[in-house]
Amino acid sequence: MKANEIRKTFLEYFKKNGHTIVPSSSLVPKGDPTLLFTNAGMVQFKGVFLGEEKRDYKRAVSVQKCMRAGGKHNDLENVGRTARHHTFFEMLGNFSFGDYFKEEAITFAWEFITKEIGFDPKDLWVTVFQEDNEAAGIWVENTGISKERIVRMGEKDNFWAMGDVGPCGPCSEIIIDQGKDIGCGRSTCAVGCDCDRFLEIWNLVFMQHNKNLKGKLSPLPKPSIDTGMGLERLAAIMQGKQSNYESDLFAPIINFIEEVSGKSYDELETNDISIKAIADHSRAVTFLITDGILPGNEGRGYVLRRILRRASRYGKLLGINEPFLYKVCGKVIECLGAAYPEIIAARDSIIKVTEGEESRFLETLERGLNILDEEIKTLKQKNKRVIPGNVAFKLYDTYGFPLDLTSDIIRTQGFTVDEEGFNTEMEEQRFKARGAWKGSGEIKTHEIYGKLVNSGIKTNFVGYYTDVTSSKILCLIKDGNIVDKASQGDNIEVITEQTPFYGESGGQVGDIGSIIGKGFELTVVDTKKPLPDLIVHHSTVKEGSVSTGGTVELIPDLNVRKATSRHHTAAHLLHAALRNILGEHVRQAGSLVGPTRIRFDFSHFSAISEKELYKIEHMVNEKIMENLEVNTDTLSYKDAVAKGALAFFDEKYGDTVKMTSVEGFSRELCGGIHVKRTGDIGLVRILSDSSVAAGVRRIEAVAGTAALKAVEEERDVIKEASLILKASPRDVPEKINKLILQHKTLEKEMENLKAKLKSGDALSILEQVKTVKGIKVVCYEVEAERPDDLRQLADLLRAKINSGIVVLGSKTNGKAFILAAITKDLSGRFNAGSIIKELAPAIGGKGGGKPDMAQAGGDNPAGLKAAMEKIYAIVEKTQN
Ligand SMILES: [Zn+2]
Ligand SMILES: [Zn+2]
Repeated sequence: MKANEIRKTFLEYFKKNGHTIVPSSSLVPKGDPTLLFTNAGMVQFKGVFLGEEKRDYKRAVSVQKCMRAGGKHNDLENVGRTARHHTFFEMLGNFSFGDYFKEEAITFAWEFITKEIGFDPKDLWVTVFQEDNEAAGIWVENTGISKERIVRMGEKDNFWAMGDVGPCGPCSEIIIDQGKDIGCGRSTCAVGCDCDRFLEIWNLVFMQHNKNLKGKLSPLPKPSIDTGMGLERLAAIMQGKQSNYESDLFAPIINFIEEVSGKSYDELETNDISIKAIADHSRAVTFLITDGILPGNEGRGYVLRRILRRASRYGKLLGINEPFLYKVCGKVIECLGAAYPEIIAARDSIIKVTEGEESRFLETLERGLNILDEEIKTLKQKNKRVIPGNVAFKLYDTYGFPLDLTSDIIRTQGFTVDEEGFNTEMEEQRFKARGAWKGSGEIKTHEIYGKLVNSGIKTNFVGYYTDVTSSKILCLIKDGNIVDKASQGDNIEVITEQTPFYGESGGQVGDIGSIIGKGFELTVVDTKKPLPDLIVHHSTVKEGSVSTGGTVELIPDLNVRKATSRHHTAAHLLHAALRNILGEHVRQAGSLVGPTRIRFDFSHFSAISEKELYKIEHMVNEKIMENLEVNTDTLSYKDAVAKGALAFFDEKYGDTVKMTSVEGFSRELCGGIHVKRTGDIGLVRILSDSSVAAGVRRIEAVAGTAALKAVEEERDVIKEASLILKASPRDVPEKINKLILQHKTLEKEMENLKAKLKSGDALSILEQVKTVKGIKVVCYEVEAERPDDLRQLADLLRAKINSGIVVLGSKTNGKAFILAAITKDLSGRFNAGSIIKELAPAIGGKGGGKPDMAQAGGDNPAGLKAAMEKIYAIVEKTQN
């Protein structure tokens, strides 16, 4: 069975059994600051398991894109060296949210494995948690597997927990015995052996407890099921391959790498490591970029960079000296595009980002490798085996070698890196990146929200239909604690049954306004939406005191909200125009929509020309003038995507979604507040376009009143300029051009005048020439700012006197300069260099130069006159 059929069979089997097929979520987990990447099928359902979120279904099935790299479980260094380690992989899973439990989970799994995909029961084993008699009993009763084939395992292997607190429970695994030939052959070889004979293929998690902070378990009211089965492993087993890399998921990619490198797989172990690592990494790179991650120096971007550079270096080991990985990514798109159409849509980005990063790294790779070679040679002579931290850091900082890449390169030679030393060097670098990654501080407050939702508290958002409403206060939070009452001056969070206040989400800022009750008034400074069903008003008590349970009027500032909605719809128009003018590869990479501006980040790989920018702005304003209808509909995610709505990587979408369309021009999944018709926006002005990261550009723009203000300001500037220039606004540019030309001409004339002035100086100096023993000597102190001026003047004087010696001096800023020059005809008799050596000490300096011109500088201006006048004595002396 091919991998494509396995995916399909799995989804169809569970659909047949009442499960809803849920598309894979992004590799970037939404709203979970604790997790770098989606690493299991249950991640997108975490909120559902915790009771914080509701879905229309209680049974789900999915094929989930997963990443394991970076963070605690860092498998990266093993990838390529083994048959089964991957960074990117796909996980098949079925889920029950308080619906069926152990019995059905076990029955479904067994039926799927033995009937649907035809494994022979006599090759199968199962494990259960040591205390889970219930599961062991069900296995025997419902599947007919013999008791001897059920192995009881401890907490380490067969007990799963979502975290330190929360849902947890025992697991049960299905294991396949691949036969003696494949195993290690040891007499002790059995289930649990680390060889390849007994392979775990499917893990069933029975969530039945809730763990509290003290570690105490209590039964969950609605036990749930979470299962996971790795597609790569399953495909390999079903296709009779002993390595995941030989399954049809990898074979075409590996063939392609063979083609590009001219090296064959399965000939030389070192080449195999490189080929497997490249095959794995190209998949990871393809999917990470698709989900909006770009190579960078922190967080997810740094994981991508490490993977990409590791692959690049393995390419070099295969003898490839130019960017090639982007081509392999092209092959990945070809192989997996049918199952994940989003990688086809992101093709341009994938190719450009990958090739760019490869090219940059190749520039430094060679030099970095040389440095490492040298270091290893030196260390070997000293009989040492540890690369010092500062060397590893230099490789990291200057040559772009991630630490694990350095470790990877040197490990075959038996070397390690002084990681502690590296970390010390890194500390300062990290400092500036700190704060970019959300820490655990946020998690505690988040827990309160989770508890509230679990206890049935939620907010109904009515802002789509009404501007102002009255409602009941459900909860007050002060300093992270739930309180009953708050009084004047307190900063609190207020949760009401319903609200017209929009909670910050989808890039739109939260509403501000006031909440008024009997005898009190609150000023709402911001509104947040920490969980899908919870809206929190961040407020200050302006007057009186407020208590839980009271009835209030919720009044958002409608002017601010109107201004925000103009900017929000304008952002959608801008997005559509960008895709229209620049191409379909443009993808929103983040946006901020507020009452005064739009900040819109998107993927694009070159600068935007003035002409393009003009076209984009023009198109947006045209759509505004067409006064198109703006509609927001609620429909299923599937239908929305089928209708061509743009969905974004970092948003988590439920079963039903909101889709905002601008008649015939734009369709996006968006739950924000919009204007009714595009004409309401009035006007849009693009203020700036800049680059924020490799492949990401930012446009800032304004709409409505803010745009009008921008236009008025521009007009004022031009008006002022025209007044100053005494020209009509239309003639301003020409007038400025004229002025610039005039300025240039004037500058030239001034230079000429200066030169003339100098020769004038020279003439007056010449009047004071002395003749010493028949030789003309010019000795003169001038005002000169730079030694260069002295040189020019000396040249001039030399030319005027024909034959003789020139000594010039000057003082500026506590320093003295002195220069001696002689004419050519005297070169046999005098040497400027020797002369200057005799003059210089009197100004406290040293000097030198050529035989015909030399100079000195010193910091004793007081001695300048004496120094210069020594020339007469020198000439006298030489003449004798
Ligand atoms: Zn074994
Ligand atoms: Zn939107």
